[in-house]
Amino acid sequence: MLMQTYNRFNVTFTSGKGCKLYDDNGREYIDFASGIGVNSVGYAHPEWVKAVSEQSGKLAHVSNLYHTQPASELAARLVKLAGMENVFFCNSGAEANEGIIKLARKYSHDKYGDGRAVIVTLKQSFHGRTVTTLAATGQSSFHKHFFPFTEGFTHVPPHDLEALKALGDDVCAVMLEVVQGEGGVFPLDHDYIRAVSGLCRERDWLLLTDEVQTGIGRCGSWFAYQQAGILPDAVSFAKGIAGGLPFGGFMAGKKCGDVLRPGDHATTFGGNPICAAAAMATLDILTEALPEVGQKGKYIMERLEKLPKVRGVRGLGLMIGIVTDGNPREIVCGLLDAGLVALTAGTDVVRLMPPPVITYDEIDKGLEILKEALK
Ligand code: PLP
Repeated sequence: MLMQTYNRFNVTFTSGKGCKLYDDNGREYIDFASGIGVNSVGYAHPEWVKAVSEQSGKLAHVSNLYHTQPASELAARLVKLAGMENVFFCNSGAEANEGIIKLARKYSHDKYGDGRAVIVTLKQSFHGRTVTTLAATGQSSFHKHFFPFTEGFTHVPPHDLEALKALGDDVCAVMLEVVQGEGGVFPLDHDYIRAVSGLCRERDWLLLTDEVQTGIGRCGSWFAYQQAGILPDAVSFAKGIAGGLPFGGFMAGKKCGDVLRPGDHATTFGGNPICAAAAMATLDILTEALPEVGQKGKYIMERLEKLPKVRGVRGLGLMIGIVTDGNPREIVCGLLDAGLVALTAGTDVVRLMPPPVITYDEIDKGLEILKEALK
């Protein structure tokens, strides 16, 4: 038996093609969820399948004691896309965030010694499910059962620069999501992000962006911070990077790209050649899809605003939140019954994250189902 940690919907999916899923009765569903932001190239994309099949026929794993071609090539491509220096590969978003937390603390310790290890995150944020990333998460509902949590985190309200300025000299970094996803799809103002970036530079705090959900083209640019016109010191990513295989990582820029030295950090499966090959195929496919992501997001949001019972729509690119009069879980259940896969976020939001490769035809079909369900 599977452990009962998920409140699963009563559907068994057996296959997918493009941005459509099929259940064990052969019923078709339009995908507005991407497996929570993961399936960035839809399902069974031929280029992705080819890359994974070919690599699995060559080499699946050798460990990080050796070089492999897919990981080295992917590293070079990613740091270029992100404007960073170096990358560390791992397996999930929480693990990627653990990495940037360690990086920030070591940067500060190397330079300033003890007593400067606090990482500031924002209220409503979500950074993962490990004991440390739960401590980083700025939602009190996550701070229960598992005490003691890792110390050295403090949470400030988003858009309150004064609260950040008031913090003491024990801070080493600020970590933020450019669009808070799990908290309810709240895009941060770009002016605020730029002001935080300026303050970080002034105080030599590292600016860390958690792009686990917003990154890899989801919001209309490779990384959402690029739209705010800043360059963080380090960035985490996961979810959409390998188009459905478990993969993630973090990148660091000039200031801290060499902070982690041999023995400081490791993970057995990080940079797995099959996942890295999948990631490169994903980047190839997304290079074509990316220019249209922002436009598709706007197209969906404009139409959602006109639907009955919709009180508000917000988001960036294909990360969209709908505030409605109804109960989000009940709405998402109704949508699934009607053939549309969608998500919830926060307490009152229906969240849509279609694959960036979705076609306008698929979008229209999904919107039609939403319109009927919200009547
Ligand atoms: N950070 C953000 C912004 C996320 O949205 C998530 C997952 O939803 C995580 C971290 C954790 O990622 P994972 O579930 O891959 O550990």
